[in-house]
Amino acid sequence: KRTVLFPPFLRSSISSSRNGSTLVVAEHENGTIKSASLSALLAAASLPDKDSSVSLLLAGSGPSLHEAASHAASSHPSISQVLVADSEAFKNPLAEPWAKLVHLVQQRGDYSHIIAASSSFGKNVMPRLAALLDVSPVTDVTGISDSHTFVRPIYAGNALSTVRYTGASPCILTIRSTSFPVSQKSVDSKSDKASISQVDLSTFNEDLDKSRFVSQTSRDDEGPDLGSARVVVTGGRALKSAEKFKLIEDLAKKLGAAVGATRAAVDAGFVANDLQIGQTGKIVAPELYLAFGVSGAIQHLAGMRDSKVIVAVNNDADAPIFQVADYGLVGDLFEVIPELLKKLPEK
Ligand code: FAD
Repeated sequence: KRTVLFPPFLRSSISSSRNGSTLVVAEHENGTIKSASLSALLAAASLPDKDSSVSLLLAGSGPSLHEAASHAASSHPSISQVLVADSEAFKNPLAEPWAKLVHLVQQRGDYSHIIAASSSFGKNVMPRLAALLDVSPVTDVTGISDSHTFVRPIYAGNALSTVRYTGASPCILTIRSTSFPVSQKSVDSKSDKASISQVDLSTFNEDLDKSRFVSQTSRDDEGPDLGSARVVVTGGRALKSAEKFKLIEDLAKKLGAAVGATRAAVDAGFVANDLQIGQTGKIVAPELYLAFGVSGAIQHLAGMRDSKVIVAVNNDADAPIFQVADYGLVGDLFEVIPELLKKLPEK
């Protein structure tokens, strides 16, 4: 990978330290903070300023919101304050009310940085927030050099650029959660509980004209979340049909892994598009990535090349996936997977 550095004359005189505080816009589920948002917290904590504080913004409605707030306040050492916005307006992840909420919180808190994970939610809300605040967001950050200098991939992950934010405050970031892996240490219980405050929504104008929540569906299997799974099993176009793609799902089940797919497999209708990995899909970096019948197109590699161990099975010895694979097997997946299923113990 190549690092592109802006020449010195383009760098502004902004100092590398800062006086300020950071707002982390977090997602929660079943009374806990989602792991991608924990990565955003980790990124916030790694901004170089010892005097700054990190506030966590949680919104939604119902008991699970307050459970998540209480859990966050007592178990994440980097948080100094938890802000809770309890309203039906934030029950669903719609960009309009959420961006308005963060805008309101920013007007009151004057944060120097606002950070969210580069999840579907963050990608939806943060650009709209940036427009409301008339600043440019720095997206998909994979590294923090100093408070205004960030590393982010370009050209589908083939180069890393180091960019310096020279715009007005606040500096809005979305971070790639795979680059800020959360360890148990960062979520250990702490003795001094962070304060929990309710966001005053009396001036919040609930203008929901532009979008309307229709429904949300989740896959009914119990497999791990693709974004945070330790093992991912991916199938490509070579699986041929939705029916045959079940081989990938069976193997994933046996390994306790998440299922992934290439765009070709998604476009062919084998699986839903939320399983797509790559430049226009999800970015994953599991400990083990198993790719079956995946050619290794650059756009696919952009979503999985940071996996710790990559195993590829392909019947073409010249398939580009073998260039990034730690272990490669030239073979027919329709023979290899059934054999694996037979030999692997039940989970
Ligand atoms: P193919 O390229 O067709 O490869 C199938 C492979 O299976 C081949 O290597 C073949 O040798 C092997 N094979 C065939 N039969 C067998 C068998 N029986 N056993 C074992 N191996 C077998 N793609 C993504 O995945 N994610 C993205 O996010 C993405 N974004 C894109 C964005 C843009 C703007 C564009 C232009 C493209 C994007 N693509 C993306 C598409 C990408 O370029 C490739 O077309 C796609 O990744 C190919 O998917 P595939 O590997 O499943 O299929």
